[in-house]
Amino acid sequence: MEHKEEVLERIEAKGVSRRDFVKYCTLVTSVLGLAPSMVPRVAEAMAAKQRPTAIWLHFAECTGCSEALLRTTYPWIDEVVLEVLNVAYHETIMAPSGEAAEKSLHDAMTQYKGKYILICEGGIPMKDGGVYGKVGGKTMLDIAKAATKDALATICVGNCACSGGVQAAKPNPTGAVSVEKATGVKTININGCPPNPINIIATVVHYLLLGKLPALDAKGRPLFAYGMNIHDNCPRRAHYEAGEFVKKFGDEGAMKGWCLAEVGCKGPNTFNNCPQVMFNDGTNWPIGAGHPCIGCSEPNFWDEQSPFYQPI
Ligand code: SF4
Repeated sequence: MEHKEEVLERIEAKGVSRRDFVKYCTLVTSVLGLAPSMVPRVAEAMAAKQRPTAIWLHFAECTGCSEALLRTTYPWIDEVVLEVLNVAYHETIMAPSGEAAEKSLHDAMTQYKGKYILICEGGIPMKDGGVYGKVGGKTMLDIAKAATKDALATICVGNCACSGGVQAAKPNPTGAVSVEKATGVKTININGCPPNPINIIATVVHYLLLGKLPALDAKGRPLFAYGMNIHDNCPRRAHYEAGEFVKKFGDEGAMKGWCLAEVGCKGPNTFNNCPQVMFNDGTNWPIGAGHPCIGCSEPNFWDEQSPFYQPI
């Protein structure tokens, strides 16, 4: 509890009220599908003294998933992430560089061997022995194999780590694949391009709260977030049933918020909690803003869901 007070005081010192923190905990609780009475327990879990150690590695990707997490509308979420997790290594936010960074990774993997949660962002180039993706002279393939081997669990964040991502799209010149395919280690996949940050936090909170990772679907995605179909939960669904379709961006149907199926919506193929949670503090989501879903939380969506603006 003492630690919880410390966390709350630090957050307050950054100009964030306890009320906002509790509001965020309420959101995490609802994303996990837990009863509102669990909010205090989620808040306690997020501020617990026993924090799991995380090593966050970047492979072939754009760092958009880290950015989406750290630059949310909650300007203080980085503070909470660093409080919820003992982040021992994260190339985007850590201070060391060069050899010192290499040493940080080595030290973290040695000190927390068998106990750290490995979070991976990015696909793994496999062609020609993995030479098309290197960090500090080592191939991403070798780094991923070594890091997954001694991890307590491996969480893949974003479509690149989960299924290879944009660099794995045809013709896939570097032979990029998912972390699971490259290493043979079973991963938890927080899919999306980028994934909703709340689903990353909720997965970690689930572990803190219940001592285990959440139930997964056949694609390795947490069911609490990916167990529902976009089309079945879409606010435009009544227009689909009524045969009211946007024919062209900016037409009358678009103005009236009709269904986007004929301009390429992939909602019927896609599983995610976007309609419920939305992005940017629940402000909106692509379909809400009049853009068809491109199916970014489905594996290999760059190849399998494109052309994005043609009907399924
Ligand atoms: S906009 Fe997309 S997800 Fe929504 S009802 Fe139409 S096809 Fe389904």
